[in-house]
Amino acid sequence: MPQLPADLPELLEQVRADVAGRVGAGKVADYIPALASVPGDRFGMAVATVDGRLHGVGDWRERFSIQSISKVFGLALTLGLDGDLLWQRVGREPSGGPFNSLVQLEHEKGVPRNPFINAGALVVTDRLLSVTGDATGAVLELLRGETGEPGLGVDSLVAESEAAHGDLNAALGYFISAHGNMDNPVRSVLAHYFRQCAISMSCGELAWAALFLARHGSLHDGRRLLSEVQAKRVNAVMLTCGAYDAAGEFAYRVGLPGKSGVGGGILAVVPRLCTVCVWSPGLDEQGNSIAGVAALERFADLTGSSVF
Ligand code: GLN
Repeated sequence: MPQLPADLPELLEQVRADVAGRVGAGKVADYIPALASVPGDRFGMAVATVDGRLHGVGDWRERFSIQSISKVFGLALTLGLDGDLLWQRVGREPSGGPFNSLVQLEHEKGVPRNPFINAGALVVTDRLLSVTGDATGAVLELLRGETGEPGLGVDSLVAESEAAHGDLNAALGYFISAHGNMDNPVRSVLAHYFRQCAISMSCGELAWAALFLARHGSLHDGRRLLSEVQAKRVNAVMLTCGAYDAAGEFAYRVGLPGKSGVGGGILAVVPRLCTVCVWSPGLDEQGNSIAGVAALERFADLTGSSVF
């Protein structure tokens, strides 16, 4: 089993120096005005360990739009509260396509390929809404509980912008509904989906909040959100599907379960050891942070912490 160096701050400084040339590369997400204005030169990275350490470098305390990273928490909560029935409504195979693609839904009769593309996350959100009555509230409660930050919340400007420019996600939702795979009104599911994407968190908060995935499903106070087997499964789906149509490349370069978002964040898990979150807004063609992937690759190689 890999060991983290005692001097984590020094390690993070080294990673930052090694990837400095990639910061600012790529394109900041511009599908909504509220994200297009985020400065592309930001870089933050944080590591939270199962033995209780939290260290960061750069802009690791600055909050950003977590976007698709929210899909990890939505999935974990839904599995934790509702068990494995969800897998009858959403698959767990990599899509090999863009995160907002409609194409496969037609072939697969409204059953999305996996929970980490938009279509799959809409189905998860629908189920979480049925189970809790407030999908966004449930995700926020989990995040606030794990971080101890009661002020964590939704950036309503981003949420409104998502809704105003959300026709493609709406199309996905109505398509799924037309195939009978949606229990709630599509507009309510969309509203919750947009609000979850618009949650603002820092690298430090995300790394801390996701530690249950490195602890076999146990929350900070010892309560269990997921069984060991469920935690393994969430990590497995992150590894195979967490970076959209670049999931293979991400596994090849980083070799850790990871989930990216178009806000430029990527959350990665080293089972039994730590979580790592990196943020840098410049994205590649698939919507993954360029400096973020480079930093996680460097971290995994320097620490020998890849699951492979
Ligand atoms: N809000 C974005 C969308 O729904 C999230 C996508 C992402 O982060 N990949 O398209």
